Amino acid sequence: SGAQAQGRELVVATDTAFVPFEFKQGNTYTGFDVDLWAAIAKELNLKYKLQPMDFAGIIPGLQTKNIDAALAGITIRDDRKKVVDFSDPYYESGLAILVGEKNTDIKDAKSLTGKTVAVKTGTATVDFLRAQVPDAKLKLFPNIDNAYLELATGRVDAAVHDTPNVQYYANTAGKGRVKVVGSVKSGDFYGIAFPKGSELVPQVNKALATLKSNGQYDAIYEKWFGKKP
Ligand code: GLN
Repeated sequence: SGAQAQGRELVVATDTAFVPFEFKQGNTYTGFDVDLWAAIAKELNLKYKLQPMDFAGIIPGLQTKNIDAALAGITIRDDRKKVVDFSDPYYESGLAILVGEKNTDIKDAKSLTGKTVAVKTGTATVDFLRAQVPDAKLKLFPNIDNAYLELATGRVDAAVHDTPNVQYYANTAGKGRVKVVGSVKSGDFYGIAFPKGSELVPQVNKALATLKSNGQYDAIYEKWFGKKP
């Protein structure tokens, strides 16, 4: 087993813009997920090409087997497990709120009631807010950078997205214009996703375990997030 995956060029999807997991730098994609997959592929002797795409297209692409694997900070959830397979968890995450630098009235999920909130199509945030704050007015964007731009220019009251992405943006491109006001959810885990029944799942789990025990995972983590607390 494994001959198939090793014998051809795999198509590995990533998100188009999800700092610092995958993002375009010059003409190439870089980030935590990109580095992690490169290390896994080296471990397993896999050839692949990266295919950045809108997040909402990734799970459908796996279901039709147009994609062999996907890393996009994909939150492992029971409903998704029905249609794709996940690797073991590789990153702990959550959701956080971003507001304009001068905002004082938004502090937690509840205070988003009646507010206009920019979110990204197809993500866990959309389901979370629809369930927890049904009176928030969601403005959907396929690309989170456009949602953040909407916030920075004052056309929405807040944006909600994955905590590491919100924090990274607030400390880089959004610095001085936006601030993180609170975590609304924790204890989410990212997994690498595959078509149902993919022979790659056990191989990738084994490679992940190797990278965790030999220090390569930590080196990649520290490159993008600094030392673990
Ligand atoms: N973690 C989010 C989800 O799984 C998506 C993160 C992203 O935008 N790439 O829904």
